[in-house]
Amino acid sequence: MARSKQPLPTTVTTASGVAAAPTGDIAQLVEDLDAMLTRLRLGAIREQLDGLLEEAARRQLNLREALAWLCAAEVASKEQRRLAMAMTIAHFPFVRTLEGFEFEAQPSIDPAKIRDLATCRWVANGDNVVLLGPPGVGKTHLEVALGREAVSRGYTVQFTTAMELLGSLVKGQQQGNLEMRLAQYSKPKLLIVDELGYLPLEPQAGHLFFQLISRRYEQGSVLISSNRPVEEWDEVFGDQVVASAILDRLLHHSHVVTIRGDSYRLREKRRSGLFRPQTGGSPLSGIGGAAPPTPAKEA
Ligand code: ADP
Ligand code: MG
Repeated sequence: MARSKQPLPTTVTTASGVAAAPTGDIAQLVEDLDAMLTRLRLGAIREQLDGLLEEAARRQLNLREALAWLCAAEVASKEQRRLAMAMTIAHFPFVRTLEGFEFEAQPSIDPAKIRDLATCRWVANGDNVVLLGPPGVGKTHLEVALGREAVSRGYTVQFTTAMELLGSLVKGQQQGNLEMRLAQYSKPKLLIVDELGYLPLEPQAGHLFFQLISRRYEQGSVLISSNRPVEEWDEVFGDQVVASAILDRLLHHSHVVTIRGDSYRLREKRRSGLFRPQTGGSPLSGIGGAAPPTPAKEA
């Protein structure tokens, strides 16, 4: 093309001043470009530049299209890094997804309800989700899967267990840094509290949990799972007044999903012939283990 043969201007005037234009020294150009991409923190473009430019040429992109193509690569890379970082910060105990959840194995769960929760509208609204059911029915799996959905939609998420959370608050009270710990657990938009009710709590744990729930009330969401029905939470917290104050706030704007059924782990073992169910239902079934499947309950 005739235009490309015209000599390049030696300077470029920009809104913020005058920049030197390339001199035609290719080696110098490559070096300068690399340094500028580093300075602008465009690491993905810098690392993939040759491949991206080759692809842009192969697709015969014009300059504007090529620039958009390079920017898209940088944005995609930054988004991937943000996601990876947010997943790490969330501290999920393992990777589980909704795609990996077999709804046929747990007929008491309404798939439409879970799909609706996966949109994370409840997180946007600061609502809570309570997952109830005996061990092994997929509570933690669903918590992680819903937590990952929230992370991918840009919400800050922290996963913890009831033991870890309440242990930390009790320690905070003893060491005089409770305020800092309450602030830390109030920060994420979604706090996931796994396994409430499995192990006995310290006597003051209920009061401390109430303080946290009050702080988060209508601000940030709590996703909590328990093997004990909410009617038994006064036993869990060892205090009826505190338990009902916690439930009052937790359930005010909430979705309660009650899972009834057999442990998925035992189901797998049964399939492979390692475990035989006792007649009358599994002793581990806890909440409604032997009961027929019923649809998820809404509070
Ligand atoms: P809970 O928290 O209710 O005790 P988990 O979520 O830890 O149960 O489930 C135990 C194991 O079984 C996990 O590895 C989980 O991924 C798997 N699991 C449970 N339910 C299902 C399901 N319906 N489909 C696929 N995997 C499941
Ligand atoms: Mg669990």
